[in-house]
Amino acid sequence: MPHSSSPSDSVFPKPDYGKTPTRKKEMPEGLWTKCPGCSAYAFNKELESRQMVCKECGHHFNITAHQRLSHLLDEGSWQEFDAGVASVDVLKFTGATSYSEQLKKYQKKTGLKEGVVCGLGKIEQYAVSVAVMEFNFLGGSMGSVIGEKITRAIERATEHRVPVLVFSASGGARMHEGMFSLMQMAKTSGALSRHAAAKLPFISILTHPTMGGVTASFATLGDLIVAEPKAMVGFAGARVLKETTRQDLPKGFQTAEFLLDRGLVDRIIARPDMRSELGKILGYFSNKPSLAKTSSRNGREATAHQNGHGAAHRNGHASETV
Ligand SMILES: [Zn+2]
Repeated sequence: MPHSSSPSDSVFPKPDYGKTPTRKKEMPEGLWTKCPGCSAYAFNKELESRQMVCKECGHHFNITAHQRLSHLLDEGSWQEFDAGVASVDVLKFTGATSYSEQLKKYQKKTGLKEGVVCGLGKIEQYAVSVAVMEFNFLGGSMGSVIGEKITRAIERATEHRVPVLVFSASGGARMHEGMFSLMQMAKTSGALSRHAAAKLPFISILTHPTMGGVTASFATLGDLIVAEPKAMVGFAGARVLKETTRQDLPKGFQTAEFLLDRGLVDRIIARPDMRSELGKILGYFSNKPSLAKTSSRNGREATAHQNGHGAAHRNGHASETV
């Protein structure tokens, strides 16, 4: 018989541990972070050196837009644009707190005027226009300024004839701006359509989470759609969908992996590989000889990508949502 631990048949009465004072494992604050993926404690310095990816389970922690840019760009290549553009509370929106109060709070919290950082830079020596959304600013929700800044980043790319890269991290449209936030879906999509007409590539990178009006507009219009591992990507939340459709939804249906299997996502790239992989991809898209030792096979792929811009796939997206 295997050992049983039930108290009824124990020969030796168990000492009562209940009264033993238990001391919580004390972790000095700011030195360690508990991984939500595997519950392991990671030393912050080490975590930072691994671009905030858990070495035990590969969990990707949330990072700021500026952290992401520092992982991504060639040193000294970054030139930020539109950093001073800030939102205006046109609707005088008031929820639990007023929208203007919220804006002030998140400006203070993030040190940014708005929830996206845009500019020109280089990745593995390829010139690009980049927009990185900041999830810590009101959940990365897209209001007029985010829409405008992303549109300008796309137009800047078209003007300079370089690829545009957008890193999405967003809960969706910003309710505080009502219809004005929804109009950003059409505006960003329109700019992408013109960028595509100029035969220039758009690489969309979906990070955790990418939801709502962002998913339903520019984020899923990429010539290439990349996602970080296990990023949640969807339109409405799982609970809302279940209540609306009254159907059981497949397990993990809003993950990058699920969407990769079904063709909405083209590639999943772990954050530590992002810079080098994007460098290779930019090489395929570029007419210049690739720095990533592109073979002739890859050269043909590049041609296919450039021709297969999918303007048809771009059109209509904004109109069918919300
Ligand atoms: Zn972990």
